[in-house]
Amino acid sequence: MSLRPTVDFLLNDWLGVESLNQRERFADHSRETFDAVLDTCERIAREKYAPFNRTVDTQEPHFDGERVVLPQATHDAQKAYAESGMLSAAQDYAIGGMQLPYTVEAAANAFFAMASVSIGSGMLTVGNANLLMAHGTETQKRVFALNEFSGRWSGTMCLSEPQAGSSLSDVATRAVPDGDDFMSDPLGPRFRLKGNKMWISAGEHELTENIIHLVLAKIPGPDGKLPPGVKGISLFIVPKKLVDADAKLTGERNDVALAGLNHKCGWRGTTNTLLNFGEGKFPARADGASGLDGRGAGAIGYLVGQPGEGLRCMFHMMNEARIGVGMAATMLGMAGYHASLDYAKNRPQGRPVGPEGKDPSRPQSRIIEHADVKRMLLAQKSYCEGALALELYCARLVDEQHTGAPEAADEARLLLEVLTPIAKSWPSEWCLEANSLAIQVHGGYGYTRDFPVEQYWRDNRLNMIHEGTHGIQAMDLLGRKVLMENGRGLQLLAQRINGTIERAMHVPDLAVHGNALGQALAQVGAATKAAWATGQPAEALANAVPYLQAFGHTVLAWIWLDVALAAHAAPDGPARTGRLGAMRFFFHYELPKIGAWLGVVSRRDATCAALPEEAF
Ligand SMILES: Cc1cc2nc3c(=O)[nH]c(=O)nc-3n(C[C@H](O)[C@H](O)[C@H](O)COP(=O)(O)OP(=O)(O)OC[C@H]3O[C@@H](n4cnc5c(N)ncnc54)[C@H](O)[C@@H]3O)c2cc1C
Repeated sequence: MSLRPTVDFLLNDWLGVESLNQRERFADHSRETFDAVLDTCERIAREKYAPFNRTVDTQEPHFDGERVVLPQATHDAQKAYAESGMLSAAQDYAIGGMQLPYTVEAAANAFFAMASVSIGSGMLTVGNANLLMAHGTETQKRVFALNEFSGRWSGTMCLSEPQAGSSLSDVATRAVPDGDDFMSDPLGPRFRLKGNKMWISAGEHELTENIIHLVLAKIPGPDGKLPPGVKGISLFIVPKKLVDADAKLTGERNDVALAGLNHKCGWRGTTNTLLNFGEGKFPARADGASGLDGRGAGAIGYLVGQPGEGLRCMFHMMNEARIGVGMAATMLGMAGYHASLDYAKNRPQGRPVGPEGKDPSRPQSRIIEHADVKRMLLAQKSYCEGALALELYCARLVDEQHTGAPEAADEARLLLEVLTPIAKSWPSEWCLEANSLAIQVHGGYGYTRDFPVEQYWRDNRLNMIHEGTHGIQAMDLLGRKVLMENGRGLQLLAQRINGTIERAMHVPDLAVHGNALGQALAQVGAATKAAWATGQPAEALANAVPYLQAFGHTVLAWIWLDVALAAHAAPDGPARTGRLGAMRFFFHYELPKIGAWLGVVSRRDATCAALPEEAF
């Protein structure tokens, strides 16, 4: 079974992505060029990623005392990805890019995520380089970003610390100016950093010549104390190996040391590290005049943007990072769906129940013939294909924000504000549930390592944790996003949903679902008001996760109804029947769940918040 027909349908029949080539930036593109990119990525994923997914799970990265060792397959996959040009796909022609719409880039990356989510860490490198393109100086772009886009160097995001995960305002890494001439370094204002960064993905390896860390740290005030809150956070480029303004390695090692590798539940193809910055393991330019202890100690880092603007710079590219996480979760779910569908078509077990019970003389049925197995397959299909549609819709909004007319671009920006927590969180929860169902379809075999589905579940379990946990995303949605700009984002989303409902009302088969969606939207609106009725954040946000779940299910029902409108207009056939069936499943089995979730939100139910600690 191939993913490609689903991707083609969503991109072309549903989103009409080809129309983007009417924009100046994408004028050289056509359906053919988009297809060529998808063909190439599909092929590389099939040849260089998929066959090694189990290898990277069983041959975990290890440290031999000097280097981190990864399987050869990881090196080969990384090389093939860089050579495909995908690292710079969205960039200008002038710097070697393809000026590819983000929608097509996201769709192309879906093939890699499905084949082996952890073998490549291109998403981090691209995110790092994109940030520098937005906030770096011309020299920082030329030296660091361009060498990341080419695949010569790779990038990381160093936000978390052992004591500061969700609460980044507690970041304790310090950065002090490096010498009297610190402002005159061609690579940017030069600082010395000291601190520990926890959970850093791809923080150490030998896959590329250099690793460019983007590090959040605080610059102490005149009293020597770190400024409180997120406003005191600045952003620094800290290369593992020092480079000059011509992007040549100087031969000096920077003081970034691997303190240890984390041994993860899944996603084992990518290293995960605890890094020590400036602890003195690799003293950098130790004869320097200043630094944290006045003797040149500390890792050398170059300020990006203005002091105190570090988190703002990071958030600039959060939308795309979160769509990337949502897409990874979706494709892991999809991988499990395809595996369990294949298994269900081949596994004989049990017999159909007739009016007289079961007839043991008859041959066994294949499990796909049992209604309950079909339920599990349809649930997976509705979660994963629905989530894929949502991610591509959000990616299309990113293109609109960057290349649309001013009013449309602004609408896209605001819609993305509201939809991004859903794009990140919904697949993290429900495509993980799809992975659990894929194991269930396999029965006992699914619980063994002889089948791939347990690995998909383990790999996917990360996605509710990183890039903002589920709880943090929920508070962002109910505490900030639906309120911002006087609720304009929520109103805009409601307008789009109502537009779909209106079209569905003209199609007799879909009108009933249009009505159900209208009611769900009204319930979400009423619960949003009720949650905030007392104006007390502690009361409103106590049930932020059930709100996120109900909001997410309503968004997915909308996406499914919109997809169903396109499917309905398509020629009859199994794909059309399947899409309409998955939409119906979602409306019949899933959407009604929002009543329970919104009930506790609307009542500002204090069952959890009020229970004293001793009572647990
Ligand atoms: C495999 C992996 C890769 C990662 N990669 C990176 C990376 O490359 N770079 C990077 O910087 N970080 C990375 N992270 C870190 C990740 O972003 C953090 O783990 C995450 O932000 C949560 O922080 P924490 O682990 O400290 O948990 P905590 O913040 O301690 O949270 C624990 C629990 O408490 C809840 N909680 C916390 N605060 C609140 C609150 N105010 N209200 C309600 N609930 C709350 C959380 O939702 C969570 O359920 C990675 C993590 C993992 C596991």
